[in-house]
Amino acid sequence: MKAEIMGIGTELLMGELTDTNSSWIASRLPALGIELQWVSIIGDDLPRLTEAFKQGMERSDIIFTTGGLGPTQDDLTREAIAAAFGETPIIQQEVVEDLERYFAARGGPMPQHNIKQANLIPSARFVPNHNGTAPGWWAEREGKIIICMPGPPGENQSMWEEQVEPQLAGLIEDEVTITRNIKTMGMSEGAVDEIVSEFFGVENPYLGIYSKADGIHLRVIARAKDTTTAHNMIAPVEKAIHERLGEYVWGYDDDTPEQAAGKSLMEKGLSVAVMEMCTGGALANNITDNPNSISYFKGGNVAYDGAALRSCGVPGEVMEKHGVVSQETANAMAEAVRRQLNADVGIAVTGVPGPGEFEGKPLGLAYICISNGEKIREMEMRLPPRRVTIKRRVPNQALIELRRLVEGTS
Ligand code: ATP
Ligand code: MG
Repeated sequence: MKAEIMGIGTELLMGELTDTNSSWIASRLPALGIELQWVSIIGDDLPRLTEAFKQGMERSDIIFTTGGLGPTQDDLTREAIAAAFGETPIIQQEVVEDLERYFAARGGPMPQHNIKQANLIPSARFVPNHNGTAPGWWAEREGKIIICMPGPPGENQSMWEEQVEPQLAGLIEDEVTITRNIKTMGMSEGAVDEIVSEFFGVENPYLGIYSKADGIHLRVIARAKDTTTAHNMIAPVEKAIHERLGEYVWGYDDDTPEQAAGKSLMEKGLSVAVMEMCTGGALANNITDNPNSISYFKGGNVAYDGAALRSCGVPGEVMEKHGVVSQETANAMAEAVRRQLNADVGIAVTGVPGPGEFEGKPLGLAYICISNGEKIREMEMRLPPRRVTIKRRVPNQALIELRRLVEGTS
C-alpha cells in the first residue's frame, strides 16, 4: 500500500514550526506494511490544499494529514477534501452536542466558530478525539483512504494509537517491516562494526550501524509476511549482538539515557544529585524529562566557574592543584553534591564548552564522575569542538555511566 503524509499549516511553510508529526507517523508505517512515498507541507490555502488532495488521490492509496482541523478560518483540511471530492459538508447534530458538552465541562459556551468541526461529507466518518475538540476524519473514495488528524502531537498520537493504527492493521495485507534498535555506548563505531561484521551485507534482515549523540546504534530491520515471522528473523541477530556487545548495550528502540538511568535508580531505590560545570543545566534538564524523576532526583548545582564551584562545596585546593577541568575536580564535585543534598549517588561533569580553550585545556575536553561514596566511575571525554554537541553528549554519557554504576556493570 503506497502512502503519503501531508503536514498542513502555513506556520510549517514559514519555518516557524517543524513538522515532527510527519516523521512520527512515518516511523509507524513500516511495521504496518505501508510504504511511504511522499511527504509534503502545504499552507492554509484552499485551492492549494484541494489540488494536493486531488494529486494525492492519484498517486497514493492512503493519505495521512495533520493540522487544519481546528475551528478557525484558516483551518481548511475538511473544506479541501470536500472540494476535491465535490461533496457538500453537512453539520452533524450529535457532534455539535459533543462539542457543547466539551465546552460546558470547561465552564463556558461553545464558540460559534467551533460548529464547523461538526461538518462531515458523505464519504467520510469522524475519528473521535479524546484529547481535544477537533475530531479526525476518515474519508474513503474509489478505494483510496484519507485520514485526517489534528495538529497537536498529544492529540494525533493518541488518536493514532487508539484508533487509526488498529483500524489500519486489519486492512493491510502487504509485507510488514519490523525494526529493532540496539543502543550501545563505550565502544567506537569501528570496533562495533568489526565485532558484528558478518551480519552486514545481508539484505533481510538488514543490519545498519549509526553513530548518535547517545552512542552507537545497531538497527536490525526485517521484512516478512507478518510481524511474528519478522521478529523471528531479528531474534538470532539480536542474540549474537548481545552475546558480543552485551556489556556495552544500555537500551533498545525508543529508550533514552534518562529513562534507562531512571529505571535502574528506581529498581534499586536510589536517589541522585548533580553538579554541572560545562553543560549549563542540560544534565538536570535531561534527568527531569523523565516523569518518574520526582522519585529519585534530589536536585543539583550549575556552577560555571571555580568560585561558584567553591561556593558549592568543592575544595579550592583540588581546583588549584588540578584545574577546574580535571578528573580530580569532577570527583570532588560529585562527592560534594552527594553529601550536600543527601543523595545516594552524585554525578558531576566539568569541561571546556568554548568558545576557546580554558586553563590551557582544549575545547571539547570533559570529565565525568559518578560516585556513591564507595565506588566511583571516572571518565574523560574528547568531544568535537561544538557547544551543542558537548551539551548533548556529556549528559548522555553521564547518565549511561550512572546506569552502569547502579547496575554494577563494567
Ligand atoms: P487546533 O484545533 O489546535 O487548531 P488543528 O488541527 O487546527 O488543531 P493546527 O492549528 O494546524 O491544528 O495546529 C495546532 C498546533 O499543533 C500547532 O500550533 C502546533 O503546535 C501543532 N502542530 C501542527 N502541525 C504540526 C506538525 N506538522 N508537527 C508538529 N506539530 C504540529
Ligand atoms: Mg488550528
